[in-house]
Amino acid sequence: MTFGRASRLASCVGLALIVSAQASQGETPQGPPNSVVQGFIRFMAYHEAGHLIMNQIQGINASTWPIEDIERYADEIAAILLVPDADDPDGVDEIIGAANGWLRAGAGYTSKDPHAPPEERAFNIICYVYGSNPEGFKDFEQYVKPEWNCAGKFKATDDEVEEGFVNNTDGKGLPIELSYVAPTPAMRDAKDFLQASEILEDLVKDIEGDFKLTRPTKLVAMSCKGHGDEGTFHFDTFQNADPSKNFDRIAICYELVDMWMKAKIDFPE
Ligand SMILES: [Zn+2]
Repeated sequence: MTFGRASRLASCVGLALIVSAQASQGETPQGPPNSVVQGFIRFMAYHEAGHLIMNQIQGINASTWPIEDIERYADEIAAILLVPDADDPDGVDEIIGAANGWLRAGAGYTSKDPHAPPEERAFNIICYVYGSNPEGFKDFEQYVKPEWNCAGKFKATDDEVEEGFVNNTDGKGLPIELSYVAPTPAMRDAKDFLQASEILEDLVKDIEGDFKLTRPTKLVAMSCKGHGDEGTFHFDTFQNADPSKNFDRIAICYELVDMWMKAKIDFPE
């Protein structure tokens, strides 16, 4: 079964190509190419969606699983959801962009970080993409090792998501409430980029379409400065004295988008 990007794009490849052609016209590239910024931000957002469905559908959170395992599993779910069809050039560009982003995101990593090291996160993505279709993604073969068993890994996780997470009932889950909070002046460009990318709208469609959420969920794009860690996106569960007000939230920080738009790194195309 296909879910996430592959199923979504099957019906709108034409539209995606037109949007991409317009976006790249007349741009003087400063910083990383669009595919890297967009791919990386999309991957980060879908990593948080991984936390969301783990928590709501399987009760997997810091009280039930080791945090390092949760972080790796969130990456694996994100990869499964974002694996493109081999004949979807924009999707392929973006997922390579995400892997490239991770290969160049190593500087700030410390051993205290519960996430996998950046290079492992990059090769996890490549392995899943290759493993989803070794014929179609033959170019990726040079980057993976046979002992990684990428095809087997892809199939195992794909089956696991299908059997343990995907909504196989007739009923729909609760909808996700998406909002863009007004940015601080310095974050206006980041908000505009994020909104134009439609990454969050895609995420809502993919998650609502394939999974059955059981708690009210907010997906909030916001300026995070002054509200905790602005350097990453967050998944949080909010409990109240009145349980009817409980909700889950994914915070998408304009600051992280801004940082990647301005990153001064040499990205080979
Ligand atoms: Zn995480």
